[in-house]
Amino acid sequence: MRIVSFFDKNASVHCLEKKVYLRTNSHPMKKILVLGSCGQIGTELVLTLREKFGSQNVVAADLKDECPETLSNGPYIQLDALNKELVRAYIIEQQFTDVYLLAALLSATAEKNPDFAWKLNMESLFIILDLAKEGHISKIFWPSSIAVFGPTTPRHQTPQYTVMEPSTVYGISKQAGERWCEYYFHKFGVDVRSIRYPGLISYKSLPGGGTTDYAVDIYYKAKAGAHFTCFLKEDTALPMMFMDDAIRATIELMEAPAEQVKVRSSYNLSALSFTPKQIFESIQKVIPSFTISYEPDFRQAIADSWPASIDDSVARENWGWKERYDLDKTTEEMLKNL
Ligand code: NAD
Repeated sequence: MRIVSFFDKNASVHCLEKKVYLRTNSHPMKKILVLGSCGQIGTELVLTLREKFGSQNVVAADLKDECPETLSNGPYIQLDALNKELVRAYIIEQQFTDVYLLAALLSATAEKNPDFAWKLNMESLFIILDLAKEGHISKIFWPSSIAVFGPTTPRHQTPQYTVMEPSTVYGISKQAGERWCEYYFHKFGVDVRSIRYPGLISYKSLPGGGTTDYAVDIYYKAKAGAHFTCFLKEDTALPMMFMDDAIRATIELMEAPAEQVKVRSSYNLSALSFTPKQIFESIQKVIPSFTISYEPDFRQAIADSWPASIDDSVARENWGWKERYDLDKTTEEMLKNL
């Protein structure tokens, strides 16, 4: 599939070509844009959405000028989520129904560049919320994170509604984003849906600078027969989820009838909670020679401010969420597929 270049000198020609194939696709009612598509979540989300709704109906968009090989089975456009004029022009012109906004700086990267993290994480959201408010988008997915919680939040089985005093710039941006999503829903009827993702474990794409990245790196090291040095202490429990569960949850939430989506800030979502020692032991059952040591760095303080486990009963009640992967099943899938 060739790259659709919307904003070059021949834009009108390319737009025309694009319109033709969008008009002839098999799902005329559904046109999906995934903005920030080349990261850990976007790569798998785009592939699953294309399987479900047809490759031509799901446009992947990212800063990267080249479409990654994995996403080459459908349309790709280079688009900066912060370029308000171009994002607006493109979305209005192409008449997308659903937009998944994934572009963001993640927790560890954001701490190194707080000003830019705030700018990217907030401004990109307002561009998309305003487009929906004006009637140009029917439905938005915007991910939040367990980083919205902070050191004063109950750490175990953290409830849907609780104290939220995040201590990282990433968490502050996600909490502010949640408040704005809910505000746009109540004030302007914007159909925005959101999940507070825990740490995500995947083998198709690498994590992008989060505090839970160790839970992916550890499988790469185990598979390579190497020693693993963990940047968190052995007993630091964090909520986690296998990517297949996270992608399924995202699409199930987006496809749920609007009246079932009662939380318009963001849903708690849970599957696993484990420590570095427990994931190590799960891997050792398969690879007995695997070894680990612990050298906590600045990410330890971030992890210490987050919940150890999450109560997601509201998501289960509202739209029927249920996980399929426990830790050993995740380990089996990771070691088999890496
Ligand atoms: P990632 O860093 O792997 O991917 C983000 C993608 O966005 C990258 O491909 C990047 O090139 C792109 N991007 C960055 N700036 C952009 C811009 N200005 N315009 C267009 N694209 C841009 O992140 P991810 O793990 O896929 O996370 C996606 C979303 O989910 C983020 O909002 C993140 O906060 C949230 N989230 C992720 C996790 C996790 O464990 N992965 C957990 C909680 C929440």
